[in-house]
Amino acid sequence: MSVHTKLYEGKAKIIYPTDDPQIFLAVFKDDATAFNAQKRGSIRGKGEINCSISSKLFKELEAHGVKTHFIDSPAPNQMRIEAVKILPLEVVVRNIAAGSLCQQTGLPLGTVLKQPLVEFYYKNDQLGDPLLTRDRLLLMELATVEQVNKITHLALQINEFLKDFFQQCDITLVDFKLEFGLNSQQQLLLADEISPDTCRLWDISAENDPNRRVLDKDRFRRDLGNVEDAYQEVLRRVIKAVERE
Ligand code: 5GP
Repeated sequence: MSVHTKLYEGKAKIIYPTDDPQIFLAVFKDDATAFNAQKRGSIRGKGEINCSISSKLFKELEAHGVKTHFIDSPAPNQMRIEAVKILPLEVVVRNIAAGSLCQQTGLPLGTVLKQPLVEFYYKNDQLGDPLLTRDRLLLMELATVEQVNKITHLALQINEFLKDFFQQCDITLVDFKLEFGLNSQQQLLLADEISPDTCRLWDISAENDPNRRVLDKDRFRRDLGNVEDAYQEVLRRVIKAVERE
């Protein structure tokens, strides 16, 4: 493959074009940011760990009927992906109250939600990724009604699969963020990544300890230490669960 200049550099990944216009190469970085990039750092090995976890989860999801952008992983920190145009939406699914849901509603941390909550945020750094209403999202033409309905359905389907999968890893899936994109045939595909950067994951064996249970980016956000160890532990358990299947 010839060397191409990057198409896009985000906080956690660089996207390169390839010789095939239908295929991009995503290179996962060790860089870590939080609070709209006001906090910056690096987590050793994160690029490889997140790429490996995401690749395995995308493969599992594909096997369960969810169409994703994943093609294959030519190196531990690289993913070949279908070329998609990302919708400017962050789709968050929550099973347990944490993070901004607690801050904005006063719900106590750890409240188990009676039903999963699907929320849409505007992917816009300048505006700080604000929470959208369905009407605002449609008003701004960020997606069509059909796309919003399909994304909501897919997000709930993905949640059911991931909740069960992580349960087998002795991990509670608290919440997570998804991104979707459209390929050249305008097909909606799950894109971006699913990793400890984009999910809240609590270790069931330490569930009553609000610090020890954290196996995700909250360790970095809240300066809890042992960030790499937590990410490695998630990868180890994901590999074991995939091997058991
Ligand atoms: P919250 O809205 O509570 O901050 O985040 C909800 C969930 O979505 C968490 O699992 C969090 O990691 C994920 N999330 C929300 N926005 C972003 C984002 O801009 N980047 C990343 N990596 N994750 C996000």
